[in-house]
Amino acid sequence: MTVSSINETESPVAAKPVFKPVHAVRGMNDIVPPESARWEWLEEQVRSVMQRWAYRNIRTPVLEHTGLFVRGLGEVTDIVEKEMYSFTDRADKTGDADHLSLRPENTAGVVRAVTEHNLLYDGGKRLYYMAPMFRRERPQRGRYRQFHQVGAEALGFAGPEVDAEIILLAHALLQQLGLRDVRLELNSLGQPAERLQHRAALIAYFEAHKDELDEDARRRLHSNPLRILDTKNPAMQALAQQAPKLLDYLGEQSLKHFEQVQAILDANGVAWQINPRLVRGLDYYNLTVFEFITDALGAQGTICGGGRYDYLIEQIGGKPAPAVGWAFGVERVLELLKEQQIAVPAQVPQAYAVVAEPASLPQVMAVLTQLRQAGVAVQMHAPADSAQGLGSFKSQFKRADASGAAWALVFGPDELARGEVTLKPLRGGEQTQLALADIPALAARIQSSLG
Ligand code: AMP
Repeated sequence: MTVSSINETESPVAAKPVFKPVHAVRGMNDIVPPESARWEWLEEQVRSVMQRWAYRNIRTPVLEHTGLFVRGLGEVTDIVEKEMYSFTDRADKTGDADHLSLRPENTAGVVRAVTEHNLLYDGGKRLYYMAPMFRRERPQRGRYRQFHQVGAEALGFAGPEVDAEIILLAHALLQQLGLRDVRLELNSLGQPAERLQHRAALIAYFEAHKDELDEDARRRLHSNPLRILDTKNPAMQALAQQAPKLLDYLGEQSLKHFEQVQAILDANGVAWQINPRLVRGLDYYNLTVFEFITDALGAQGTICGGGRYDYLIEQIGGKPAPAVGWAFGVERVLELLKEQQIAVPAQVPQAYAVVAEPASLPQVMAVLTQLRQAGVAVQMHAPADSAQGLGSFKSQFKRADASGAAWALVFGPDELARGEVTLKPLRGGEQTQLALADIPALAARIQSSLG
Protein backbone atom coordinates (compact mmCIF):
# COMPACT_ATOMS: atom_id res chain seq x y z
CA MET A 1 0.00 0.00 0.00
CA THR A 2 1.39 3.38 -0.96
CA VAL A 3 1.35 6.38 1.28
CA SER A 4 -1.18 8.19 -0.89
CA SER A 5 -3.57 5.27 -0.85
CA ILE A 6 -3.40 5.25 2.94
CA ASN A 7 -4.26 8.92 2.96
CA GLU A 8 -7.12 8.39 0.55
CA THR A 9 -8.78 5.69 2.62
CA GLU A 10 -8.22 7.44 5.91
CA SER A 11 -11.24 9.11 7.42
CA PRO A 12 -10.59 12.83 7.95
CA VAL A 13 -12.17 12.64 11.39
CA ALA A 14 -10.40 9.44 12.57
CA ALA A 15 -9.47 9.67 16.23
CA LYS A 16 -5.77 9.88 17.06
CA PRO A 17 -4.65 6.53 18.46
CA VAL A 18 -3.91 6.54 22.18
CA PHE A 19 -0.68 4.74 22.98
CA LYS A 20 -0.34 3.33 26.47
CA PRO A 21 3.12 3.74 27.95
CA VAL A 22 5.21 0.58 28.00
CA HIS A 23 6.99 -0.21 31.26
CA ALA A 24 10.19 -2.11 32.00
CA VAL A 25 9.83 -5.73 33.05
CA ARG A 26 9.37 -6.16 36.83
CA GLY A 27 12.68 -6.49 38.65
CA MET A 28 14.67 -5.20 35.67
CA ASN A 29 16.10 -1.71 36.00
CA ASP A 30 17.12 1.02 33.62
CA ILE A 31 20.41 2.61 34.49
CA VAL A 32 20.20 6.24 33.43
CA PRO A 33 22.34 9.37 33.97
CA PRO A 34 23.50 10.59 36.40
CA GLU A 35 23.35 7.13 38.08
CA SER A 36 25.11 5.54 35.09
CA ALA A 37 28.19 7.64 35.93
CA ARG A 38 28.54 5.57 39.10
CA TRP A 39 28.42 2.39 37.02
CA GLU A 40 31.07 3.64 34.60
CA TRP A 41 33.28 4.68 37.48
CA LEU A 42 32.94 1.24 39.11
CA GLU A 43 33.74 -0.46 35.81
CA GLU A 44 36.89 1.65 35.48
CA GLN A 45 38.00 0.65 38.98
CA VAL A 46 37.39 -3.01 38.16
CA ARG A 47 39.42 -2.79 34.93
CA SER A 48 42.25 -1.04 36.68
CA VAL A 49 42.45 -3.61 39.50
CA MET A 50 42.13 -6.58 37.11
CA GLN A 51 44.93 -5.14 35.01
CA ARG A 52 47.23 -5.00 38.05
CA TRP A 53 46.40 -8.57 39.02
CA ALA A 54 46.85 -9.80 35.42
CA TYR A 55 43.27 -11.07 35.01
CA ARG A 56 41.99 -10.94 31.41
CA ASN A 57 38.50 -10.11 30.19
CA ILE A 58 36.15 -12.81 28.90
CA ARG A 59 32.74 -12.21 27.30
CA THR A 60 30.28 -15.01 26.78
CA PRO A 61 26.70 -14.97 25.42
CA VAL A 62 23.74 -14.06 27.60
CA LEU A 63 21.87 -17.13 26.26
CA GLU A 64 23.14 -20.64 26.85
CA HIS A 65 21.68 -24.13 26.51
CA THR A 66 19.52 -24.82 29.57
CA GLY A 67 21.39 -28.09 30.06
CA LEU A 68 24.60 -26.19 30.83
CA PHE A 69 23.05 -24.75 34.00
CA VAL A 70 21.21 -27.95 34.94
CA ARG A 71 24.52 -29.80 34.75
CA GLY A 72 26.64 -27.03 36.14
CA LEU A 73 24.59 -25.70 39.04
CA GLY A 74 22.84 -28.91 40.04
CA GLU A 75 19.22 -29.86 39.51
CA VAL A 76 18.13 -29.27 43.10
CA THR A 77 19.23 -25.67 43.43
CA ASP A 78 16.78 -22.78 43.76
CA ILE A 79 18.16 -21.23 40.61
CA VAL A 80 17.58 -24.25 38.39
CA GLU A 81 14.36 -25.32 40.08
CA LYS A 82 12.52 -22.04 39.94
CA GLU A 83 14.52 -18.98 38.96
CA MET A 84 15.70 -19.42 35.40
CA TYR A 85 14.23 -17.59 32.44
CA SER A 86 14.03 -20.52 30.05
CA PHE A 87 12.28 -21.01 26.75
CA THR A 88 12.18 -23.32 23.79
CA ASP A 89 13.64 -21.73 20.70
CA ARG A 90 11.95 -21.98 17.31
CA ALA A 91 12.57 -25.30 15.64
CA ASP A 92 15.30 -25.40 13.02
CA LYS A 93 15.02 -27.19 9.65
CA THR A 94 15.41 -30.62 11.23
CA GLY A 95 12.53 -29.91 13.58
CA ASP A 96 14.76 -29.77 16.65
CA ALA A 97 14.31 -26.83 18.97
CA ASP A 98 16.90 -25.73 21.52
CA HIS A 99 16.06 -25.28 25.18
CA LEU A 100 17.72 -22.02 26.11
CA SER A 101 18.10 -19.98 29.29
CA LEU A 102 19.21 -16.48 30.14
CA ARG A 103 22.30 -17.01 32.26
CA PRO A 104 21.58 -16.89 36.00
CA GLU A 105 25.33 -16.75 36.73
CA ASN A 106 28.46 -16.84 34.64
CA THR A 107 30.79 -19.50 35.99
CA ALA A 108 29.14 -22.26 33.96
CA GLY A 109 29.33 -20.11 30.80
CA VAL A 110 32.97 -19.25 31.39
CA VAL A 111 33.82 -22.91 31.94
CA ARG A 112 31.98 -23.84 28.75
CA ALA A 113 33.85 -21.20 26.77
CA VAL A 114 37.23 -22.14 28.26
CA THR A 115 36.57 -25.79 27.35
CA GLU A 116 35.23 -24.97 23.90
CA HIS A 117 38.29 -22.86 23.04
CA ASN A 118 40.71 -25.17 24.81
CA LEU A 119 42.06 -22.16 26.67
CA LEU A 120 43.91 -24.28 29.22
CA TYR A 121 46.11 -25.95 26.59
CA ASP A 122 49.17 -23.95 27.65
CA GLY A 123 48.48 -23.60 31.35
CA GLY A 124 46.07 -21.90 33.72
CA LYS A 125 44.09 -18.78 32.87
CA ARG A 126 42.98 -15.88 35.01
CA LEU A 127 39.78 -14.33 33.70
CA TYR A 128 37.22 -11.72 34.69
CA TYR A 129 33.87 -10.44 33.44
CA MET A 130 31.29 -7.75 34.10
CA ALA A 131 27.89 -8.77 32.84
CA PRO A 132 24.12 -8.92 33.40
CA MET A 133 22.59 -12.05 34.98
CA PHE A 134 18.94 -13.08 35.21
CA ARG A 135 17.09 -14.77 38.06
CA ARG A 136 13.34 -14.81 38.54
CA GLU A 137 13.48 -14.02 42.26
CA ARG A 138 11.08 -11.86 44.23
CA PRO A 139 12.31 -8.30 43.58
CA GLN A 140 13.30 -6.38 46.72
CA ARG A 141 16.12 -4.13 47.86
CA GLY A 142 19.37 -5.68 46.62
CA ARG A 143 17.55 -8.42 44.73
CA TYR A 144 16.58 -7.92 41.11
CA ARG A 145 15.61 -10.10 38.18
CA GLN A 146 18.24 -8.60 35.94
CA PHE A 147 21.30 -7.77 37.98
CA HIS A 148 24.97 -7.43 37.23
CA GLN A 149 27.99 -9.30 38.42
CA VAL A 150 31.69 -8.69 38.30
CA GLY A 151 33.38 -12.06 38.46
CA ALA A 152 36.88 -13.48 38.51
CA GLU A 153 37.80 -17.06 37.69
CA ALA A 154 41.25 -18.67 37.90
CA LEU A 155 41.15 -21.93 35.97
CA GLY A 156 43.80 -24.64 35.83
CA PHE A 157 45.40 -23.95 39.22
CA ALA A 158 45.04 -26.41 42.08
CA GLY A 159 47.05 -24.81 44.87
CA PRO A 160 45.72 -22.96 47.92
CA GLU A 161 47.82 -19.93 46.91
CA VAL A 162 45.39 -19.29 44.07
CA ASP A 163 42.39 -19.55 46.42
CA ALA A 164 44.19 -16.94 48.52
CA GLU A 165 45.07 -14.83 45.47
CA ILE A 166 41.52 -14.67 44.26
CA ILE A 167 40.23 -13.74 47.73
CA LEU A 168 42.93 -11.05 47.95
CA LEU A 169 41.81 -9.81 44.52
CA ALA A 170 38.23 -9.39 45.75
CA HIS A 171 39.54 -7.66 48.85
CA ALA A 172 41.71 -5.32 46.76
CA LEU A 173 38.74 -4.42 44.63
CA LEU A 174 36.55 -3.59 47.63
CA GLN A 175 39.41 -1.48 48.98
CA GLN A 176 39.91 0.29 45.67
CA LEU A 177 36.23 1.24 45.78
CA GLY A 178 36.74 2.62 49.28
CA LEU A 179 34.29 0.27 51.01
CA ARG A 180 34.53 -0.28 54.75
CA ASP A 181 33.12 -2.71 57.27
CA VAL A 182 32.92 -5.69 54.96
CA ARG A 183 33.79 -8.94 56.69
CA LEU A 184 35.24 -12.01 55.07
CA GLU A 185 33.80 -15.38 56.01
CA LEU A 186 35.56 -18.61 55.08
CA ASN A 187 34.74 -22.27 55.12
CA SER A 188 36.05 -25.43 53.55
CA LEU A 189 33.66 -27.88 51.93
CA GLY A 190 36.40 -30.50 51.68
CA GLN A 191 36.48 -33.13 48.96
CA PRO A 192 33.57 -35.26 47.70
CA ALA A 193 34.48 -38.31 49.83
CA GLU A 194 34.64 -36.16 52.96
CA ARG A 195 31.36 -34.54 52.06
CA LEU A 196 29.74 -37.95 51.65
CA GLN A 197 30.71 -38.94 55.18
CA HIS A 198 29.47 -35.65 56.53
CA ARG A 199 26.30 -35.94 54.48
CA ALA A 200 25.49 -39.32 56.00
CA ALA A 201 26.00 -37.85 59.49
CA LEU A 202 23.88 -34.85 58.58
CA ILE A 203 20.99 -36.94 57.25
CA ALA A 204 21.09 -39.10 60.39
CA TYR A 205 21.03 -35.95 62.55
CA PHE A 206 18.15 -34.29 60.71
CA GLU A 207 16.20 -37.56 60.57
CA ALA A 208 16.45 -37.77 64.33
CA HIS A 209 14.90 -34.27 64.42
CA LYS A 210 12.39 -34.73 61.62
CA ASP A 211 9.56 -33.08 63.54
CA GLU A 212 11.49 -29.83 63.69
CA LEU A 213 12.16 -29.62 59.93
CA ASP A 214 10.17 -27.26 57.72
CA GLU A 215 8.79 -28.34 54.36
CA ASP A 216 11.78 -27.09 52.41
CA ALA A 217 14.20 -28.95 54.65
CA ARG A 218 12.20 -32.18 54.44
CA ARG A 219 12.25 -31.97 50.68
CA ARG A 220 16.01 -31.44 50.73
CA LEU A 221 16.79 -34.00 53.41
CA HIS A 222 17.91 -36.65 50.95
CA SER A 223 18.59 -34.57 47.85
CA ASN A 224 20.71 -31.76 49.29
CA PRO A 225 20.96 -31.84 53.10
CA LEU A 226 23.90 -29.42 53.12
CA ARG A 227 21.56 -26.69 51.96
CA ILE A 228 19.43 -27.14 55.08
CA LEU A 229 22.33 -25.56 56.98
CA ASP A 230 21.78 -22.48 54.84
CA THR A 231 18.15 -22.13 56.04
CA LYS A 232 16.75 -18.65 56.55
CA ASN A 233 13.92 -20.00 58.73
CA PRO A 234 14.40 -18.59 62.27
CA ALA A 235 12.64 -21.61 63.79
CA MET A 236 15.35 -23.86 62.41
CA GLN A 237 18.43 -21.83 63.34
CA ALA A 238 19.22 -23.69 66.54
CA LEU A 239 18.84 -27.06 64.86
CA ALA A 240 21.15 -26.04 61.99
CA GLN A 241 23.65 -24.57 64.45
CA GLN A 242 24.07 -27.86 66.31
CA ALA A 243 24.24 -30.07 63.20
CA PRO A 244 27.45 -32.04 62.50
CA LYS A 245 30.10 -29.71 61.05
CA LEU A 246 31.79 -30.50 57.77
CA LEU A 247 35.08 -29.11 59.10
CA ASP A 248 35.19 -32.03 61.55
CA TYR A 249 35.12 -34.46 58.63
CA LEU A 250 37.99 -32.97 56.61
CA GLY A 251 41.08 -35.12 55.99
CA GLU A 252 44.68 -33.98 56.37
CA GLN A 253 45.06 -32.76 52.76
CA SER A 254 41.95 -30.62 52.86
CA LEU A 255 42.89 -29.15 56.22
CA LYS A 256 46.39 -28.29 54.97
CA HIS A 257 44.92 -26.58 51.93
CA PHE A 258 42.60 -24.53 54.11
CA GLU A 259 45.37 -23.58 56.55
CA GLN A 260 47.62 -22.34 53.74
CA VAL A 261 44.81 -20.10 52.44
CA GLN A 262 44.46 -18.65 55.93
CA ALA A 263 48.23 -18.16 56.33
CA ILE A 264 48.44 -16.16 53.09
CA LEU A 265 45.46 -14.01 54.07
CA ASP A 266 47.10 -13.40 57.47
CA ALA A 267 50.40 -12.41 55.84
CA ASN A 268 48.45 -9.87 53.79
CA GLY A 269 46.72 -8.44 56.83
CA VAL A 270 43.29 -9.52 55.60
CA ALA A 271 40.99 -10.40 58.47
CA TRP A 272 38.69 -13.43 58.14
CA GLN A 273 36.45 -15.57 60.25
CA ILE A 274 35.34 -19.16 59.81
CA ASN A 275 31.63 -19.73 59.29
CA PRO A 276 31.07 -23.49 59.41
CA ARG A 277 27.57 -23.01 58.03
CA LEU A 278 28.74 -21.23 54.91
CA VAL A 279 27.84 -23.66 52.12
CA ARG A 280 26.95 -21.27 49.25
CA GLY A 281 23.86 -21.62 47.11
CA LEU A 282 25.36 -23.62 44.28
CA ASP A 283 26.34 -27.27 44.20
CA TYR A 284 29.63 -27.09 42.39
CA TYR A 285 32.02 -25.95 45.12
CA ASN A 286 34.68 -27.95 46.99
CA LEU A 287 37.44 -26.98 49.46
CA THR A 288 37.56 -23.21 50.04
CA VAL A 289 34.32 -21.20 49.94
CA PHE A 290 34.02 -17.58 51.04
CA GLU A 291 31.72 -14.58 51.21
CA PHE A 292 32.23 -10.88 51.78
CA ILE A 293 29.34 -9.64 53.89
CA THR A 294 28.13 -6.28 55.12
CA ASP A 295 25.56 -5.52 57.80
CA ALA A 296 24.72 -2.20 56.16
CA LEU A 297 22.32 -3.52 53.51
CA GLY A 298 19.72 -5.38 55.54
CA ALA A 299 18.81 -8.90 54.52
CA GLN A 300 20.81 -8.95 51.28
CA GLY A 301 24.20 -8.45 52.91
CA THR A 302 26.33 -10.78 50.81
CA ILE A 303 28.10 -8.62 48.29
CA CYS A 304 30.58 -11.18 47.00
CA GLY A 305 30.71 -14.95 47.08
CA GLY A 306 32.82 -17.68 45.60
CA GLY A 307 34.99 -20.69 46.08
CA ARG A 308 36.87 -23.55 44.51
CA TYR A 309 35.12 -25.73 41.94
CA ASP A 310 37.54 -28.45 40.88
CA TYR A 311 34.91 -30.79 39.42
CA LEU A 312 32.79 -28.40 37.38
CA ILE A 313 34.92 -28.36 34.23
CA GLU A 314 34.72 -32.14 33.97
CA GLN A 315 31.00 -32.07 34.75
CA ILE A 316 30.44 -29.73 31.83
CA GLY A 317 32.34 -32.07 29.53
CA GLY A 318 35.80 -30.53 29.61
CA LYS A 319 39.12 -32.14 30.45
CA PRO A 320 39.31 -32.25 34.27
CA ALA A 321 40.97 -29.11 35.65
CA PRO A 322 40.81 -27.31 38.99
CA ALA A 323 39.40 -23.80 39.30
CA VAL A 324 38.43 -21.13 41.79
CA GLY A 325 36.38 -17.95 41.42
CA TRP A 326 33.95 -15.40 42.82
CA ALA A 327 31.28 -12.96 41.74
CA PHE A 328 30.12 -9.75 43.33
CA GLY A 329 26.80 -8.04 42.84
CA VAL A 330 27.28 -4.64 41.22
CA GLU A 331 23.92 -3.27 42.44
CA ARG A 332 24.72 -4.22 46.03
CA VAL A 333 28.21 -2.74 45.90
CA LEU A 334 26.82 0.50 44.47
CA GLU A 335 24.17 0.54 47.19
CA LEU A 336 26.86 0.09 49.82
CA LEU A 337 28.91 2.93 48.30
CA LYS A 338 25.86 5.14 48.67
CA GLU A 339 25.19 3.90 52.19
CA GLN A 340 28.78 4.72 53.18
CA GLN A 341 28.59 8.10 51.41
CA ILE A 342 31.57 7.35 49.22
CA ALA A 343 31.67 10.07 46.58
CA VAL A 344 31.98 9.09 42.95
CA PRO A 345 33.14 11.75 40.48
CA ALA A 346 30.22 13.28 38.60
CA GLN A 347 30.37 13.36 34.82
CA VAL A 348 30.55 16.99 33.69
CA PRO A 349 31.87 18.57 30.51
CA GLN A 350 34.95 20.77 30.87
CA ALA A 351 33.50 23.44 28.63
CA TYR A 352 30.08 24.46 27.36
CA ALA A 353 29.83 26.19 23.99
CA VAL A 354 27.55 29.24 23.88
CA VAL A 355 26.79 30.26 20.30
CA ALA A 356 25.21 33.56 19.26
CA GLU A 357 24.13 32.92 15.70
CA PRO A 358 23.01 29.79 13.88
CA ALA A 359 24.98 31.02 10.83
CA SER A 360 28.24 30.47 12.69
CA LEU A 361 27.45 26.85 13.66
CA PRO A 362 29.50 25.18 10.89
CA GLN A 363 32.62 27.11 11.93
CA VAL A 364 31.95 26.67 15.66
CA MET A 365 31.32 22.94 15.36
CA ALA A 366 34.55 22.47 13.43
CA VAL A 367 36.39 24.12 16.34
CA LEU A 368 34.58 21.93 18.89
CA THR A 369 35.53 18.78 16.99
CA GLN A 370 39.19 19.83 17.07
CA LEU A 371 38.98 20.55 20.79
CA ARG A 372 37.49 17.11 21.41
CA GLN A 373 40.26 15.57 19.34
CA ALA A 374 42.68 17.40 21.63
CA GLY A 375 41.02 15.70 24.60
CA VAL A 376 38.66 18.39 25.87
CA ALA A 377 35.15 17.36 26.97
CA VAL A 378 32.84 19.89 25.35
CA GLN A 379 29.07 20.16 25.32
CA MET A 380 27.46 22.35 22.69
CA HIS A 381 24.37 24.39 23.33
CA ALA A 382 21.36 23.23 21.35
CA PRO A 383 17.82 24.57 21.83
CA ALA A 384 14.85 22.21 22.09
CA ASP A 385 13.10 24.18 19.37
CA SER A 386 15.28 25.95 16.83
CA ALA A 387 12.44 28.11 15.43
CA GLN A 388 13.63 30.95 17.70
CA GLY A 389 17.31 30.56 16.88
CA LEU A 390 19.71 29.30 19.54
CA GLY A 391 18.20 31.27 22.42
CA SER A 392 19.41 34.33 24.30
CA PHE A 393 22.87 34.43 25.89
CA LYS A 394 21.12 34.50 29.25
CA SER A 395 19.28 31.26 28.63
CA GLN A 396 22.40 29.64 27.16
CA PHE A 397 24.49 30.62 30.19
CA LYS A 398 21.82 29.11 32.43
CA ARG A 399 22.29 25.84 30.58
CA ALA A 400 26.07 26.20 30.71
CA ASP A 401 25.88 26.61 34.48
CA ALA A 402 23.59 23.61 34.90
CA SER A 403 25.92 21.42 32.84
CA GLY A 404 28.52 21.62 35.59
CA ALA A 405 31.20 22.81 33.15
CA ALA A 406 34.03 24.99 34.49
CA TRP A 407 34.18 27.11 31.35
CA ALA A 408 31.83 28.69 28.85
CA LEU A 409 33.25 29.02 25.36
CA VAL A 410 31.48 32.06 23.98
CA PHE A 411 31.27 32.23 20.20
CA GLY A 412 29.91 35.74 19.52
CA PRO A 413 29.99 37.40 16.08
CA ASP A 414 32.71 39.90 17.10
CA GLU A 415 35.02 37.21 18.51
CA LEU A 416 34.53 34.99 15.46
CA ALA A 417 35.26 37.92 13.11
CA ARG A 418 38.59 38.34 14.91
CA GLY A 419 39.26 34.58 14.81
CA GLU A 420 38.86 34.30 18.59
CA VAL A 421 36.68 32.78 21.27
CA THR A 422 35.92 34.14 24.73
CA LEU A 423 36.80 31.76 27.54
CA LYS A 424 34.59 32.62 30.51
CA PRO A 425 35.01 30.83 33.83
CA LEU A 426 31.58 29.83 35.13
CA ARG A 427 32.61 29.65 38.80
CA GLY A 428 34.18 33.09 39.15
CA GLY A 429 37.34 34.60 37.66
CA GLU A 430 38.43 36.72 34.72
CA GLN A 431 37.39 35.98 31.16
CA THR A 432 40.00 35.90 28.38
CA GLN A 433 40.08 35.82 24.62
CA LEU A 434 42.04 33.11 22.82
CA ALA A 435 42.88 32.53 19.18
CA LEU A 436 40.99 29.79 17.37
CA ALA A 437 44.03 29.11 15.21
CA ASP A 438 45.91 27.66 18.15
CA ILE A 439 43.74 24.73 19.30
CA PRO A 440 46.48 23.13 21.47
CA ALA A 441 46.86 26.37 23.47
CA LEU A 442 43.08 26.70 23.84
CA ALA A 443 42.77 23.06 24.92
CA ALA A 444 45.64 23.45 27.40
CA ARG A 445 44.02 26.53 28.91
CA ILE A 446 40.65 24.81 29.36
CA GLN A 447 42.28 21.80 30.95
CA SER A 448 44.76 23.69 33.14
CA SER A 449 42.05 24.96 35.45
CA LEU A 450 40.78 21.45 36.06
CA GLY A 451 44.09 19.82 36.96
P1 AMP B 1 25.75 -15.95 43.67
O1 AMP B 1 26.04 -16.22 42.22
O2 AMP B 1 24.34 -16.33 44.07
O3 AMP B 1 26.79 -16.46 44.59
O4 AMP B 1 25.77 -14.36 43.82
C1 AMP B 1 26.94 -13.63 43.83
C2 AMP B 1 26.60 -12.22 44.18
O5 AMP B 1 25.74 -11.67 43.20
C3 AMP B 1 25.83 -12.08 45.47
O6 AMP B 1 26.71 -12.01 46.54
C4 AMP B 1 25.09 -10.78 45.28
O7 AMP B 1 25.93 -9.69 45.58
C5 AMP B 1 24.81 -10.79 43.81
N1 AMP B 1 23.43 -11.26 43.53
C6 AMP B 1 22.96 -12.52 43.47
N2 AMP B 1 21.67 -12.55 43.16
C7 AMP B 1 21.27 -11.27 43.03
C8 AMP B 1 20.04 -10.62 42.69
N3 AMP B 1 18.92 -11.31 42.41
N4 AMP B 1 20.02 -9.27 42.62
C9 AMP B 1 21.14 -8.54 42.87
N5 AMP B 1 22.32 -9.09 43.18
C10 AMP B 1 22.41 -10.44 43.26
